[in-house]
Amino acid sequence: MGRQRTYDVAVIGAGAFGGWTAWHLAKRGQRVALMEAYGPAHSRASSGGETRIIRMGYGADELYTRWAKQSLAQWKEFFEATKNPLFLETGVLWMADRDDARLQDTKQTLGRCGVRFEELDRKALERRYPQIGLEEIQCGILEPNSGVLLARRAVAAVAEDAIRLGAEYRCAQVLQPAASGRVHEVKTSGGEKISAGDFVFACGPWLGKVFPDVLEPRIFPSRQEVFFFGIPAGDTRFAAPALPTWLFQEDLVYGMPDIERRGLKIAFDEHGERVDPDTQSRIVSSAMTEMVRKYVTRRFPALKDAPIVETRVCQYENSSNGDFLIDRHPEMENVWFVGGGSGHGFKHGPAVGAYVTGQLLDGAAVEARFTLATKDTSQKRAVY
Ligand SMILES: Cc1cc2nc3c(=O)[nH]c(=O)nc-3n(C[C@H](O)[C@H](O)[C@H](O)COP(=O)(O)OP(=O)(O)OC[C@H]3O[C@@H](n4cnc5c(N)ncnc54)[C@H](O)[C@@H]3O)c2cc1C
Repeated sequence: MGRQRTYDVAVIGAGAFGGWTAWHLAKRGQRVALMEAYGPAHSRASSGGETRIIRMGYGADELYTRWAKQSLAQWKEFFEATKNPLFLETGVLWMADRDDARLQDTKQTLGRCGVRFEELDRKALERRYPQIGLEEIQCGILEPNSGVLLARRAVAAVAEDAIRLGAEYRCAQVLQPAASGRVHEVKTSGGEKISAGDFVFACGPWLGKVFPDVLEPRIFPSRQEVFFFGIPAGDTRFAAPALPTWLFQEDLVYGMPDIERRGLKIAFDEHGERVDPDTQSRIVSSAMTEMVRKYVTRRFPALKDAPIVETRVCQYENSSNGDFLIDRHPEMENVWFVGGGSGHGFKHGPAVGAYVTGQLLDGAAVEARFTLATKDTSQKRAVY
């Protein structure tokens, strides 16, 4: 109790965003404290799932396409260097109606950003993916070099490597600093004091709990349920390469092939009810179970009677429109918020960490879309 340590930067939260921020800062020689209440990518964290999609397509939104491309290169480089094969190039297949404007926009953006993709018409989709129920689907795009990150383990590997680079990790819950102007130290719930030059709060869905006055109205944690359907014995149609990672754009439903023998993963991307990440029930609801089974019956008819072999309940940490929040506290000049991953942030961890590092060390250009000023107190989703 009462011990005091001094760092250049204290990063609070060791999820995808905080972990990569600590990594980049440590790589630049900063003395970093990485503080985490429950452990990197624990079961309740937004980064705590087994798998996350890394795709380049974002409609007309070039910012996130560029960041996804930059991040994929960095994830791969990191996995290569640390001998952790945690990226699976399953390919990512977008499916849509013929006139879908967003798919057309995605093609243009991928083309402009130099991302490889294949266009598939209905006939090609039927031929390649006979296991998919294509009702209403007329066209698709396959990103052959995108895929899946083994999320939980990837975050643990990033935290471990940040420590190897010199960051000091501790399991501790950090309390909201009570100050204005320059903050010199933060306190933990265990009574420890940590002094640093800058404090980066990368607390995901907890940001509103740590800063209730500023962020409780601006970060919307939503309940998201995930299901895994067991594959019939001896059936190889639901594993890559036969089945890539897939997204039915208009239905807001996505999933993955059978990865590490967990079954076909499927989830609805629509935002669920507002939840508390500490206490929300992690048991799936019967209403969602029924909806998901109906959907599987329609899109993957061979799995209509398949058992649900695993489930997970997580939460998105939405900003008002889906853009990230990376900015300073309005009254504490050296306190930063990093979050608002909004159900699509995981893949961008490397780019987020590099951006935060640029803000702290280089006075790099500010992306207006990430500022606190652009974060509304009511939700109007614009990023998918
Ligand atoms: C079901 C689901 C599916 C998703 N699918 C995808 C996908 O396919 N692709 C994709 O790119 N993204 C996806 N996302 C989004 C992505 O997972 C998140 O945007 C990303 O993981 C957010 O990371 P984070 O570091 O901001 O938050 P978290 O991972 O939640 O990390 C925040 C950390 O801060 C810690 N913390 C909080 N308060 C304190 C405190 N006071 N003191 C110390 N520590 C504290 C927490 O314990 C936690 O570990 C999905 C999310 C969910 C829930």
